[in-house]
Amino acid sequence: MSQLNALLARFPRLGLAQLPTPLEPLPRLSAHLGGPAIWVKRDDMTGLGFGGNKLRKLDYVLHEAGGADTLVSGGVVQSNSQRQVAAVAAKLGLQCHLVVYRGRVADPSPAYGRSGNALLNQLFGAHLHETPWTGDRNAAIENLADKLRARGRRVFAVPYGVSNALGAVGYMSAIAEIAVQSRARAMEPAAILHASGSGGTQAGLVLGATLALPNTRIIGIDVDGEPEPVRRRVAACLKDAAALAELPYADDRIEIAPRSSGSRYGVLDIATLEAMRLAASLEGLVLDPVYSAKAMAGLIDLVRAGRWRADEQIVFLHSGGTPALFAYADMLDLPASMESAGQG
Ligand SMILES: *Cc1c(COP(=O)(O)O)cnc(C)c1O
Repeated sequence: MSQLNALLARFPRLGLAQLPTPLEPLPRLSAHLGGPAIWVKRDDMTGLGFGGNKLRKLDYVLHEAGGADTLVSGGVVQSNSQRQVAAVAAKLGLQCHLVVYRGRVADPSPAYGRSGNALLNQLFGAHLHETPWTGDRNAAIENLADKLRARGRRVFAVPYGVSNALGAVGYMSAIAEIAVQSRARAMEPAAILHASGSGGTQAGLVLGATLALPNTRIIGIDVDGEPEPVRRRVAACLKDAAALAELPYADDRIEIAPRSSGSRYGVLDIATLEAMRLAASLEGLVLDPVYSAKAMAGLIDLVRAGRWRADEQIVFLHSGGTPALFAYADMLDLPASMESAGQG
């Protein structure tokens, strides 16, 4: 057994996520861009409740939740993270209470508050607690958890984005899978690129790569238009995860790529629309406007800048988020923006 698999075997998971997720080639997108061969790691296909990257973390994190009767977490109105918490709670027969932060993103359309993830949270039976966004991601989650404990509930609090040490250690499993899958295809990825937000995904990928893909760069694409806070969150999570996994901590492998047309969190830009349209029309691959299409736009930026040779291979980690697409439907419809996307 590899060193990474031996390490992961020390951290049991619930088995809620469908793993391993597929690694698939994107030949038409690769040919269109004329750069390296692009592969997609389908972490949007982890299964439960429409899947996504948070399920891979929750599989490990919730193994520690034995004895709880209630899950508490939080996120913005269209948070994929809390939608996955709500789906897991339903599956495990736990009550679910979610802090819904209002005001981090201005509602871009009437559908925003009731479609996509917001609709799914209600279907999964979660109790929603609207709270103004202050910038502190976890305080309101902790407050709500305390309030429910005072009422006698046995609460397990899931941090914002499921980004804690154990969640990041769990994400090392994606590297274990990619290492096996790329070896079977006789290739070694030059880089793995993905949307980075609360930091746990990138921390786990970086830590896993030190063991199993030492020549592969992990590149987090900033989806907030604020690369420095993202880097700090990844570094903090990496430090905690390294301690938990008893591995050396080094932050020199953290690479955050800002996007040339970087827009604020949850705000659409032309390059994002172009990336979404290319992936859908060339590969039938659905991306979302908040995370995965922005990450793909960042990947396209780097390919067009000549970062990789045509004989190299890169992996786009699709982190999920597709239900949020429908919350932005009114904006994607606009013929004017699609016209200008074509010129991007
Ligand atoms: C949460 C999320 C991310 C970012 O992952 P982090 O671990 O929070 O950095 C990327 N893509 C999607 C679709 C997400 O929901």
